[in-house]
Amino acid sequence: MAKRQFEDIADHIGIPDSERARLLYPKRAIAVSCPIHRDDGTTEVFQGYRVQHHLSLGATKGGVRFSPNVDVGEVAALAIWMSWKCALAGLPYGGAKGGVTVDPRTLSPRELEALSRRYMQEMIPFVGPHTDVMAPDVGTNEQVMAWFMDTYSINCGHTVTEIVTGKPVSCGGTAGRREATGRGVTHTAMRAAETIGLEVSGSTAIIQGFGNVGSVAAIELAARGVKIIGVSDHSACYFDRNGLPVAELEQYAAHHGCLSGFSTELLEDPQELPYHACDFLVPAAMERMIDAHAARRLRCRILAEGANGPTTPEADTVLAQRKDEIFVVPDILCNAGGVVVSYFEWVQDLQKLFWEEEEVNTQLFRIMDRSFAQMLARSRADGISNRLAAMAIGVEKVRQTKAARGLFP
Ligand code: NAD
Repeated sequence: MAKRQFEDIADHIGIPDSERARLLYPKRAIAVSCPIHRDDGTTEVFQGYRVQHHLSLGATKGGVRFSPNVDVGEVAALAIWMSWKCALAGLPYGGAKGGVTVDPRTLSPRELEALSRRYMQEMIPFVGPHTDVMAPDVGTNEQVMAWFMDTYSINCGHTVTEIVTGKPVSCGGTAGRREATGRGVTHTAMRAAETIGLEVSGSTAIIQGFGNVGSVAAIELAARGVKIIGVSDHSACYFDRNGLPVAELEQYAAHHGCLSGFSTELLEDPQELPYHACDFLVPAAMERMIDAHAARRLRCRILAEGANGPTTPEADTVLAQRKDEIFVVPDILCNAGGVVVSYFEWVQDLQKLFWEEEEVNTQLFRIMDRSFAQMLARSRADGISNRLAAMAIGVEKVRQTKAARGLFP
């Protein structure tokens, strides 16, 4: 998907073939084996990856996911998208992504800590506050980042908070980072509503995925008067056209680790959830949830992509052909709030000077608004989709930097 999207952008901008490989292919792809002692006394080896896409703008930046399907191809695609995302937002980073092929729900807390520390230990030769900075993603959280930071710091002999972002505030994290991605999703969804003239008060939303991104987006949308009529996670799916009790769902998921068991009356078939009529559809789970078949059946007005890569290129083609236009807020804009506030966290850690949450949010919304306006202006000027416009801006910025710096030696 990432490669195909890049080829479309390169064709649109007119990038010569000779320049394409240098822009597309990752600078480094690292694969490591991470052995840990299991609680039953056996030893198990997990595969870990990190892909650093380009180093032209500064350090690379990107999340680490613990998920059973992780492989080097998935991680490389996510690293490439991170590059265009950081460039669109104007951040001084290249893209990176990492992961371990594991279902973290099958690990005890001690095993999860052992695997987190071992993964960071294996990555120490390849990362650093000015080389590559990690963050949370699917299946990892603030606690995992604290273990990463502690492991790296022990190796250095002093505390290096700026090695990861998305840490607890008590370990050098920033106010507002945990909520940042969901907040950014909501903020750009509001901008989309303004753009198409949608009345937000009394409008409806369906959210697929109820982890960090999905649950915060649900709460933030509800706070703006949007009725949340459907939510799902890997364990359960609920629908109520009259509106779901979002705060209770969030508390339940935080306590039980998933949505399963919250209700029997509200249960819905997860396959059918995205096809209910709604104003906002927010995919906030995994990649490729919306394929061409799904794109034909969607009945939302705004598709706000909280997840990375939720819509396939085939689905994009269907969306472009539909007469009832669905306004797409593409992932590299919609979920950029996470990396924007990660950038603020890194800056604060480097300066040892910390901001109030209000300042974090003000600066976050300023950057999201700027990126949204740039994307809209470009899509209108060139007559292209929002996704192509957002990615074209990102690719062009990286291309300009590479051209200005030249090729060594
Ligand atoms: P998370 O692990 O906190 O939550 C993932 C959620 O998706 C869980 O609720 C899980 O149950 C659900 N899920 C998994 N498979 C599902 C399925 N088949 N149907 C419905 N739900 C399913 O992860 P997260 O950090 O919230 O990340 C979600 C998405 O957002 C990912 O694509 C991630 O790359 C992207 N993202 C995250 C951040 C961040 O700051 N955490 C930033 C940018 C983008």
